[in-house]
Amino acid sequence: MKVLKFGGTSVGTVESLRNVKQIVESIDGRVVVVVSALGGLTDRLISTAHMAEKADQSYTSELLAMKSRHYDIVNTLVPENEREDLKSSLDELFGRLENVYKGISLLEELSPRSLDKVVSFGEMLSSRIIARIIDNATLFDSTEFIKTVNRFGRHLLDSDRSNRLISHTFGNCDFKVAVVPGFIASDSDGITTNLGRGGSDYTAAILAANLGADVLEIWTDVDGFMTADPRIVSGTKVIPDLSFTEAMELCNFGAKVIYPPTIYPVFHKNIPIYIKNTFNPSARGTCIYDIKDRKSQDNAIKGVSSINDSCLLTVKNDRKIKNLASRLLNNLTRNGISVLLVSHANTPDSITFSLPQSDIERAMEALSKEFEAELETGEFHSPVVEMNLATIAVVADNMKSFAGLTDRLHRLLNENKIDVLAYSQGQPETSVAFVVPMDKRTLSLQTIHDEIFAMIPTVV
Ligand code: ASP
Ligand code: MG
Repeated sequence: MKVLKFGGTSVGTVESLRNVKQIVESIDGRVVVVVSALGGLTDRLISTAHMAEKADQSYTSELLAMKSRHYDIVNTLVPENEREDLKSSLDELFGRLENVYKGISLLEELSPRSLDKVVSFGEMLSSRIIARIIDNATLFDSTEFIKTVNRFGRHLLDSDRSNRLISHTFGNCDFKVAVVPGFIASDSDGITTNLGRGGSDYTAAILAANLGADVLEIWTDVDGFMTADPRIVSGTKVIPDLSFTEAMELCNFGAKVIYPPTIYPVFHKNIPIYIKNTFNPSARGTCIYDIKDRKSQDNAIKGVSSINDSCLLTVKNDRKIKNLASRLLNNLTRNGISVLLVSHANTPDSITFSLPQSDIERAMEALSKEFEAELETGEFHSPVVEMNLATIAVVADNMKSFAGLTDRLHRLLNENKIDVLAYSQGQPETSVAFVVPMDKRTLSLQTIHDEIFAMIPTVV
C-alpha cells in the first residue's frame, strides 16, 4: 500500500487536480490519499475569521468567493451525475461555516477553539470534492481517528489512541483509494482540533506508519529538498537522497519542504519518504530512507538551512551551580522549547545557546521557575539575551569525516565581514551551525553554499 499526500498547491486549481487524478489512478495497488485544503484557503479562512471578529460584515463576501472557488472546481471536474449530490453536501458545510462566522461576529470574539473550527473547513471541503474526482475513492473522516491532547497550549498527537482508532477504522474497511482530509483532528471530548499549520504531511506519516505502507509520497510544488532555499540562494540543486536524520536536521533548521514531525513515525517503521512534484511528476524528487540501506557510502554534505529570528542566551556560572548546563537544557526540552545550537565554546563558567526568538518569553519563564531558589540567593544570573540573529546549519551524516570544515567555514564568514556570534558541532554529528546577525543571513547562506557545493559533489 502507498500513502500519498497532496499539498495545497497540488489541489488548488483545476489543472493541478487533473494531475492529482492521473497520478493516483495510475497506481495499481491500494492507496491512501491525504489532502490539504485548496492552496491559500487556510490563510483566507483565518483572515476572514479576523474580519468577523471585528464585526466587519465583508466576511460574507469572502465566504461567497471561497464558495465559488470550490464550485468552479466541482463544475469542471466532477462527473455531471454526481454534482448535485456533492453540491448539497458542500452547501451544508458552507452553511455551518457561515454560522460559525456569524457567531464570531456577534460576539466579536475569536477564541482558539473557534479558530480551530474555522480552519477545519478547508480540508473537509477539499476532501469531499477530491473523493468525487478520483475514480473508486472512499472518503474518510480524520477527526474520527486522529486524536490530540493539549500540552503547552498546543495540540499534540495522542499516538496510542490515534493508532488504535486508525487500525480499527481501516482494518474493517475495504477500499481501493481512501481519501483522507489532512491536518484536522479532534480531542477526547470530540472537539475539532488540528496538527498545526502544515500538519497534513503529519497526518499522512501517521497513517503510513500505522498501516505499514511501502512508501510515503509527499506531492508538492517543488522537485524535492534543495541544497538551500532557492528563493534566497542562487545555484541550488535538488538533493536526490537524504537519510532520515539528515532530513530531520534540515527541517529543524527551517527547510520548509515538509512539516518536521512528519519524519518520526515513518522513520521508526523504516518507511521511505519520496518528495515529488505534482507539476513535474517524472522528476525523481528526493528520497528519504534509512542510511543503512544506502548502496554506496554516501558521504556528501547535503544542504544549508537557516532559522531566521533566533536569539542567543548566555548564562554565567561564576558561582559554580552543579550540572547547570544539563538542568538548563533538560528544563527547556521539558517545556517544549527546542534549543537550536549549544555553543562549542562553552566553559564551566558560562553556557551559550540559541533559540527561536518566538520562544524567548516561555524560555525565560521556565528558567526562572527551574532556578527559583538559586535566583533568590544570587547564584543564578538571568541569561543575557541577544536578539535578531539567524542560526545557520550545514547538514550531513558523518559530519566528523569533514575534518576542518567548521574552522574553514568560520574563517570564510569572517573574511566576508560576518560576525559569528556562536557555533556548534551538532548532535549527533549531523550538522554544524553558526549564529550570525539576521541582516547577514542571506550573505552567510550564499557564502557557505558556494564554498561547499563548489568543492563537494551533492550526488554520490
Ligand atoms: N491546510 C493546512 C495549512 O495550510 C494544513 C496543510 O496544508 O498541511 O496549514
Ligand atoms: Mg505543507
